[in-house]
Parts: sequence; C-alpha cells; structure tokens
Amino acid sequence: MNTAAEFSAAPTSAPDANPIPAISLIAAFPELVEQACRFGVTGRALDRGLWRFNGFSLRDFATDARKTIDGRPAGGGSGMVLMPAPLRQATQAARLWHGGETKVILLSPDGDRLDQAMASRLAREPNVTLVAGRYEGLDQRWIDECVDFTISIGDYVISGGELAAAVVIDAMVRLLPGALGDSESALTESFSAELLDWPQYALTNAAGNADIPSTLLGGNHALIDRWRREQSLLKTARRRPDLLQKAKLTQADRDFLTKNGL
Ligand code: SAM
Repeated sequence: MNTAAEFSAAPTSAPDANPIPAISLIAAFPELVEQACRFGVTGRALDRGLWRFNGFSLRDFATDARKTIDGRPAGGGSGMVLMPAPLRQATQAARLWHGGETKVILLSPDGDRLDQAMASRLAREPNVTLVAGRYEGLDQRWIDECVDFTISIGDYVISGGELAAAVVIDAMVRLLPGALGDSESALTESFSAELLDWPQYALTNAAGNADIPSTLLGGNHALIDRWRREQSLLKTARRRPDLLQKAKLTQADRDFLTKNGL
C-alpha cells in the first residue's frame, strides 16, 4: 500500500522537488480514504496535480508473519490498542515520502475540534501526515514521540480515524488555490466569515423558478448581494448566535438585525 497507493496525476519525481501540497495517511484501512478522495472536488484536484496523496497501511509495517498491528491493553480491559512498532515504522516511511519533514496529525476524539480556521491553516502546510486510530486507540508511547497535534471531528466516537481523515482532507483540499471551479465559492461558504451560507436556489425553467425569491431573479447584483448577506445574518442569528458574536458586522448589518428583533 505504501507505494502502490500513491495516486496523483502529478509527475512522480522526488517529493521534495515538487512544491505541491502532499498529504499522507497512516491507517489500518487507507483504501477507505483513497476511495473517498477520488470523487468530486478532491478527485479533480488530484487529477490536476494540485495535491498528492499516499496511503500507508499499518499492516505493511507489522513485525510478525501474521501482520499483527494491535495488542491487548496493558492493565486489562476490553478492546485492542494499535502497537507502537508498526506505527513508528509507518511514520518513518511517511516522513521519507514527504522528503524528511511532515506534520504528524492524529485523529482522535480528544483532539482540538476541526473548524474552518483550522482547515485553512492546514491547507497552508506543505506536508501533512494524518494518522487514523482503530479499536481502543493508539499506544501512548508513539503518540508522545511522534504526534505534533491532534484533531477531533466532533464530540462523538466513530469506529476508526479513516473517515475523520477523509473529512479533514476534504476540508483542506477544497481550500487549495484552484481546487474549486468557482474561486469565489470558498470565500462565501459557511464559516468563512463566521456567518452561515445563505439559502441557495437552483434555476430550472420559468415555471419551476416561480417561487424563487424575486430579488434573485431581478438581475440587480447589489440587491442580490444585500439579500444574500441579510439571509446569512438571519440564518446565523437564529441557528448559530455564537458565531455572530465573532463575525465582522457593518452598521447596516447591525441595523438589519435590530430591525428583525435579533
Ligand atoms: N477509545 C477511544 C476514546 O474513547 O476516545 C475511541 C477510539 S475510536 C473507537 C477509534 C479511532 O477512531 C480513534 O483512535 C480515532 O482515530 C478515531 N475517532 C473516533 N472518533 C473520532 C473523532 N470524533 N474525531 C477524530 N477521530 C475519531
């Protein structure tokens, strides 16, 4: 998996000679993430060489013939724990692939919560290695030695870090320059300015468009922009008032919210 799983239309020259962002994944099931990344925005960005990916399967770094990657927890109890030796070997292989330097990021429910600002910081990193846990988690000795920081995708527990890694990768890659078809989209999406996105309507045919808010069909871009801003303000005030506290609001925004009793 460690070499075969690399998929990118980018030239296969030495990674340190290639300036495009490189993301690697260490996991029991890296194929899960490879598959997820092949579709939509992330897949197109890969095909266009905007980022590179390599999945490292922990079993390739197991030290016994049975390819064991987990052991019983010290002190007893249920479940299994990912062993340090395969994790260390896989980390070393990932570092080599990155040309020596990479940020090692563990996916774990006890990590810092992923948000748009974090995704944006990660998207500026040239080399990132995501590590997905399984079972009860990972051996603390490896965590202490190798992990730079830890990310949670929310206050719930899923069965493995692969899907969490796919979420992080998607959030990062869509922010890479040129990844989105319309370069404006990432700037106007939810959370980009601490506001939720406005409601969207798909144009169909004249009859189907009849119940779309008339401002959106009027062609006056200043009015459309104002309508969208106001809808964002309304939605954020009603659904996520905590975000509104941090948003940069104009006097017109404040007046609008006051007029609407918010
Ligand atoms: N025993 C761990 C605990 O209570 O925190 C949960 C382990 S979970 C079943 C297995 C793996 O899934 C974790 O090591 C982590 O990589 C991943 N995982 C589960 N929930 C996650 C979350 N909210 N954010 C990021 N990763 C998560």
